[in-house]
Amino acid sequence: MTLTGKGTSFKPHGKHLIAGEWVAGEAMFLSEPAHGEAHSFSVGTPEHIESACVAAEEAFWTFGYSSRVERAAFLNAIADEIEKRANEITEIGTRETGLPEGRLQGERGRTTGQLRMFAEHILKGDYLDQRHDVALPDRQPMPRPDMKMIQRPIGPVAVFGASNFPLAFSTAGGDTAAAFAAGCPVVVKGHGAHPGTGEIIAEAIHAAIKSCDLHPGTFSLVQGGTLEAGQALVQHPLIKAVGFTGSLAGGRALFDLCAQRPEPIPFFGELGSVNPMFLLPMALSTRGEALAKGWAGSLTMGAGQFCTNPGIAVVIDSDGADSFISESVSALNGVDAQTMLTDGIAVAYEKGRDRVAGSSEVQTLLSTASAKRSAKPNLYATTGKAWLANTELGEEVFGPLGLVVRVADEDEMIAVAKSLEGQLTCTLHLDDADADLGRCLMPILERKAGRILANNFPTGVEVCDTMVHGGPYPASTNFGATSVGTMAIRRFLRPVCFQNIPNALMPSTT
Ligand code: NAP
Repeated sequence: MTLTGKGTSFKPHGKHLIAGEWVAGEAMFLSEPAHGEAHSFSVGTPEHIESACVAAEEAFWTFGYSSRVERAAFLNAIADEIEKRANEITEIGTRETGLPEGRLQGERGRTTGQLRMFAEHILKGDYLDQRHDVALPDRQPMPRPDMKMIQRPIGPVAVFGASNFPLAFSTAGGDTAAAFAAGCPVVVKGHGAHPGTGEIIAEAIHAAIKSCDLHPGTFSLVQGGTLEAGQALVQHPLIKAVGFTGSLAGGRALFDLCAQRPEPIPFFGELGSVNPMFLLPMALSTRGEALAKGWAGSLTMGAGQFCTNPGIAVVIDSDGADSFISESVSALNGVDAQTMLTDGIAVAYEKGRDRVAGSSEVQTLLSTASAKRSAKPNLYATTGKAWLANTELGEEVFGPLGLVVRVADEDEMIAVAKSLEGQLTCTLHLDDADADLGRCLMPILERKAGRILANNFPTGVEVCDTMVHGGPYPASTNFGATSVGTMAIRRFLRPVCFQNIPNALMPSTT
């Protein structure tokens, strides 16, 4: 593996960052890099979590009352510190995850872009959603008191990143950026798939905390190694919300722990999805080949390890459907094996493939065997009737696996749409002549997904004001929220009404 940067080797020391100190216990675990040597990391324990949460609560009493200008400076300082370590971050990230250098450089830009976006966003002040009902002392039959409402930070937040975005959805990813922007200290549970990448990013945040003279408890990173640290974190009484990006199984387990606490807290889990695409008849007949090529590209990008991977294509039986299928097979056949993020994800991909292949009334269109920790595309087809009878076919297979659902007619396409579970995205491919069917599908898809697309592919999530990266369960555990874009800050704020409170006692909104 070659890297464009020089002097870029990062050797992790394997410690946790707790309230400004690098600490380690006795138990260690070994990283499982895709390339190069493994490193030892200290196993996170409930004692580490306790220290980090107590420090985060202490930090809240200053950080939670810091000015927007101070927090914007902090967010920008983190972005600067990440850029200073650019080559080392790319090098360790590539080694640990097997993701290509270019992908990690792009993801670094997205990560620093998110941090700077939140800095700009809070400086504008709109997120406070300030409302004021002025006093009406002469109102009859009762006077009205002066009422002001503003959004306030909720307290320490726990963050769990995902394996497939070691930068943008991890230690200094969107959840951490949004929580800091809101004024919430953060305790990150490091991801076992990229602990060294987590460590160097923690080093960048630590440097920004020092340069901005903030309380050291504003940020801690506790590495994993077992499930214990994460479970202790979501159950810690000082934690007031959790931002989680990861699998449905992991997210659901932690969500249930949050709900069972004596004081239940919100768990913002951004989970998996099959992101169905509906290919309407005219679009399919006029540009089926281009759609097949576009689908193959989106389905296999990053070895299919995207939460927005479009795993399902729904088509109406026709000649256009036949040629779409044969074009998809040939486009996918040309895709080389790609390294997967972890051994466990590679094994889970094979199991998922075997589950789909073994389902009744599923036809194999393209079946590939993969070498260790790598994946090649697989493609299957089923009928609308079989899909409607077998809910397992709607479960995510994390990797480059596609399933074509051949429906008999428009009514069956609508029935398939109605049968969907919650999704991060649903896509329509349509031409003008498909508008009537499109109009029938829209109200259904709107109830199913956080984002609906027309004539695009869902991989590639724009970080912007209008983005909704969430959706009804199981796409996320909280359909009113997004984990990407400026609205993500709302998860870590709480509206408080101040009735008749003198201005001198009001929290500052500067
Ligand atoms: P994961 O295996 O669920 O891991 C996520 C984090 O949760 C890790 O820190 C993991 O700890 C921890 N964890 C998992 N189960 C746990 C349990 N029972 N108790 C305590 N901690 C637990 O997910 P992943 O493999 O990293 O990510 C892949 C999945 O994420 C895919 O399903 C993908 O679709 C989804 N994803 C969703 C989005 C989105 O925005 N919706 C974005 C990216 C990915 P360890 O590190 O110790 O395993």
